[in-house]
Amino acid sequence: MTDRVAPDRRSFIMSKVGQKNTTPEMILRRALHARGFRYRLHRRDLPGSPDLVFPSRRKVIFVHGCFWHGHGCRWGMAPKSRAEYWLPKMEANKARDNQALTLLREKGWQALVVWQCELRNTAPTVERVIAFLDD
Ligand SMILES: [Zn+2]
Repeated sequence: MTDRVAPDRRSFIMSKVGQKNTTPEMILRRALHARGFRYRLHRRDLPGSPDLVFPSRRKVIFVHGCFWHGHGCRWGMAPKSRAEYWLPKMEANKARDNQALTLLREKGWQALVVWQCELRNTAPTVERVIAFLDD
C-alpha cells in the first residue's frame, strides 16, 4: 500500500509537527507586531499553551496547523492510506484543542483559533484577528 502523500511532502509535514515557531505563526506574529500589538508567547500556565497571549485584554490566539489539528480543509485531511494511524491522532488533538478552549473560557479568557490555511490569505485574516483583539 502506497502513501498518497509524497515522501518529501510527508517529511515537510512531519518537520512542522511539534515545532513552536511554525511559519504561519510567524506570519501572524510579524503582522500583529507591525500593527503595534504586543503579546506573550506559549504561556504554559494557560490551558493548551496558547501561541499568542494578550494578558491585559485577557485574550489568546491559537495558530493551528491544518494537518496536525485536523482542520478538514484540503491541507487538513488525513492521508487515505494509514488513515487508521492518523485519524485517531488528529481526533485526539481536536479533543484536546476543544478542552483547552473550554477551560480558557471558564477562566475568563477569550480565544480565537487561526488556521494555517487562513494565513495563506494574510491581510483579511490579520484584520479579523485585530477585530477580535480590539473588540
Ligand atoms: Zn485548514
